[in-house]
Amino acid sequence: MNNNNFYEALELSLNDWKTLFANWNEPSFRAGQVCQWIYAKKVFNYHDMSNLSKELRTKLSENILLTMPIMIKQQKSQDGTKKFLWQLSDGNRIESVLLNHGGHKTACISSQVGCPLGCVFCYTGAMGFSRNLTRSEILGQFLMMEKVNGSDINNIVFMGMGEPLLNENNIFAAIRSLNDKNMRNLGARHITISTSGIVPGIEDLADFEVPLRLSLSLHAPNDALRNKLMPVNKQYNLQKLVNALRHYKERTGERITIEYALIDRVNDAPEYAYEMAALLDGLEPYINLIPFNTVPSRPDLKRSSESRIKEFCAALASLKIEYELRREKGSDIMAACGQLASSK
Ligand code: SAH
Ligand code: SF4
Repeated sequence: MNNNNFYEALELSLNDWKTLFANWNEPSFRAGQVCQWIYAKKVFNYHDMSNLSKELRTKLSENILLTMPIMIKQQKSQDGTKKFLWQLSDGNRIESVLLNHGGHKTACISSQVGCPLGCVFCYTGAMGFSRNLTRSEILGQFLMMEKVNGSDINNIVFMGMGEPLLNENNIFAAIRSLNDKNMRNLGARHITISTSGIVPGIEDLADFEVPLRLSLSLHAPNDALRNKLMPVNKQYNLQKLVNALRHYKERTGERITIEYALIDRVNDAPEYAYEMAALLDGLEPYINLIPFNTVPSRPDLKRSSESRIKEFCAALASLKIEYELRREKGSDIMAACGQLASSK
């Protein structure tokens, strides 16, 4: 239990709730009841928790805050993608995205206000870094989206603003609440962490108690190019990174997804496909090719032409590498990969 946040409901695990109720001389099943209201029924006001006594509801509301991000704006894309702008209790603003894949819903959640890693192609990176999100702010985005959506969301991906593995403790704590059977009960297979390549974080993920899905943002298959696009590569180069990925795969048995955004004449030559195949040899990754989304911070970077995308795909296919060419979602409302920021 984080003592600083003792009074914030979404900071508490099921055991924390049990301890709290024991201290209040309440039966321990109250913990499950309150968590059902919050995580299953999305009731964020103690006074509406009708199976608790009036006295207990009052005591809860006087002692345990139940703070949710405030929805400032909701935008809907032509393809059905929704983008939410939230305000946090200190006034900072973050965005989350709700994607719809043939009826299956995926929440794309932010882990930081901004990002310190400054990848040249990413709008979030261009806004700099303010702070990590707390466990409750991470959970709050998801639960509020479920409430607004009116039904459960099937999957969660940490692909919003920020680098999740630089905010490991809070991300892992939030995942424990999502995964707990008595809380949100979301299966580990429905939770994906995307990282730019924070090696110690990948090692910790390999040891995490539930096997999450891992997605690695590669975008360049050699150090010279990757150093230019993603400064984090200077700290954790490709050799260190690939070693960590191998360790992750051995430890968890999980298949890793590789994200590769095709930027016109920057990283889209077929040679890079061959180089990527050699780099990842033996890992049997699943490659997600993302058409680059333009960002206001770098108007010089353009999406690859259809013919260059085709050539890159043909090179991967000739190497018998499994890939998928993803079509971007939500780019008309700046909700696609790399386009999130603390917009007004
Ligand atoms: N910081 C983490 C997670 C958030 S970014 C990471 O980098 O993995 C989510 C994904 O969007 C990453 O794969 C990132 O590389 C990609 N991305 C960033 N800017 C992009 C852009 N302009 N076009 C396409 N993908 C982009
Ligand atoms: Fe940060 Fe990821 Fe954007 Fe890079 S791509 S700046 S790591 S959010």
